[in-house]
Amino acid sequence: MLSAHKTMPEAMMALIDDGIKIDGYIGPGHVSTIAGATMYSRLIEKHPISIVISGFEPVDLLQSIYMIVQQIENGERKLEIQYKRVVTPEGNRKAKALVEEVFEPCDDWWRGLGLIHQSGMAIKASFSAFDALKQIPVEVEPAREPPECICGDVLKGIKKPVECKLFGKTCNPVNPIGACMVSNEGACQAFFRYGR
Ligand code: SF4
Repeated sequence: MLSAHKTMPEAMMALIDDGIKIDGYIGPGHVSTIAGATMYSRLIEKHPISIVISGFEPVDLLQSIYMIVQQIENGERKLEIQYKRVVTPEGNRKAKALVEEVFEPCDDWWRGLGLIHQSGMAIKASFSAFDALKQIPVEVEPAREPPECICGDVLKGIKKPVECKLFGKTCNPVNPIGACMVSNEGACQAFFRYGR
């Protein structure tokens, strides 16, 4: 097994540490279902921002945006769960115990964002017999981003996909050049499909 697991709060914190002006985050409902809302506690202690964990239906997202706006209007900064029908503060204790048994935090590389401290999940030494990184002696070159792709800035919210020279021309959903155009969750693909 090759572990490429990532943890969200460290990346969310790294963006703010990087000086990106963020008023609030819409927290991922699926991740938070397992990890629990308390996984954002350290982030919100360090940076007083609004975090609302949201479901995936359009009305869930609309309500989450509304909750963030309400917090800002009331001068509050706190963690709230909109997706209450699934997400709890503590998450899935049994699943979390299993994850802790097998994995441990490690520094990890994020496409477009770079190396983020303790943002990955490595397989523990006690399970190294199953760890492809330890068992298969292969050297893999670091991934290189296409030079004209501005995915990093798009991911950080500094630039819009339409500001990329390749957007909609050489880069499109049939021929994605950067990560943001690959899946329908990517900002560039969303702009291509709905924003033009
Ligand atoms: S349009 Fe393509 S090349 Fe440009 S930033 Fe988005 S993914 Fe990268």
